[in-house]
Amino acid sequence: MDALFDIRQIYLEEAVRDYARGQEILARHPNAQLIPVDNHWRIPQFFGNEGAAEEWLRIKRETLILGVRKTLTMRPNGRSADFIAPSSSNGCGMACAYCYVPRRKGYANPVTVLVNIDDITRAIIRHAGKLGWKTAPNQIDPAAWVYDLGENGDLSADALLSDNVRDLIGIFRDLPNAKGSFATKRVNRALLDYDPRGRTRVRVSLMPPEMARRLDIRTDPIDVRIAFIDELVRAGYEVHVNFSPVVVHENWQAEWRSLLHQLNDGIGAAAKAQLKAEIIMLTHNAALHEVNMRWHPRGEDWLWRPDLQENKKSEGGMINLRYRHRWKGRWLGQLRDWMAEIIPYCAIRYAF
Ligand code: SF4
Repeated sequence: MDALFDIRQIYLEEAVRDYARGQEILARHPNAQLIPVDNHWRIPQFFGNEGAAEEWLRIKRETLILGVRKTLTMRPNGRSADFIAPSSSNGCGMACAYCYVPRRKGYANPVTVLVNIDDITRAIIRHAGKLGWKTAPNQIDPAAWVYDLGENGDLSADALLSDNVRDLIGIFRDLPNAKGSFATKRVNRALLDYDPRGRTRVRVSLMPPEMARRLDIRTDPIDVRIAFIDELVRAGYEVHVNFSPVVVHENWQAEWRSLLHQLNDGIGAAAKAQLKAEIIMLTHNAALHEVNMRWHPRGEDWLWRPDLQENKKSEGGMINLRYRHRWKGRWLGQLRDWMAEIIPYCAIRYAF
């Protein structure tokens, strides 16, 4: 088992035992303590646990939650994907300081694997079947409907815990009008055996290595992620890059230009021929800042820059901090210019 996980406790809904995937996962951890719960979302130990981060990191490594997904709806997206598929997991073994995912589940946010994967794959197949062919190309994909499979975690890491990711990638092999997609900061070579046949897009998340060392806690280093791109392409994945989040600071130009050169030098012709990028500028949040100050205050030197940021109300009604509108536009323009100069073959799918 990869060092990211060393599962000692499994919290599980009773119904999990009725599913083959649930039984398989339990069989992988015969010595784990099993703790029954009524609902995988409402486990008091993991809510409101803004306290010591050492506890979260231990919880992330040692705790697994197993549940059964109740809702199977596809949500329209329009940025990374056409639709967000019902997730086969939530939570993450990694601990990026800017990650907004824990806000919904408590900051330790250990991985929950949803064991009714057959319900999820059937729902995607049915939805894609009803859609028919994509008639108008968009920035997401010229021909295929794209489903985001990993909104609430990192599927490369999830693939260490169960075969859910293998099953998801498997259905897209046979869906002529649809592709799966997920972003990742983890190199898991098990993915290379999943035979995606071009129908799953992996979005490799990149930022300058100096910044990743400050913020991307428990993830794989940037040079390792870049080296994985060619391997993924050879294994039959479509691979895009996800420049996210872009963190602006006094030396960001040198760091980003260096990253773009590192990417250009680190991937081969086949990867370059199909590479596209999405760019997401940092969004931060006052509540997350307060939590981070208790466990990783040095990261906040880079994330919390009220001199560069302004408040903006999110669609969900939260007050977020984003880079000031006019500056953000200028900075995005600079990044686009550096990309045009250093990786001119890489189209930008979207930037915001
Ligand atoms: S890898 Fe993704 S989901 Fe996991 S902590 Fe980092 S940003 Fe959050």
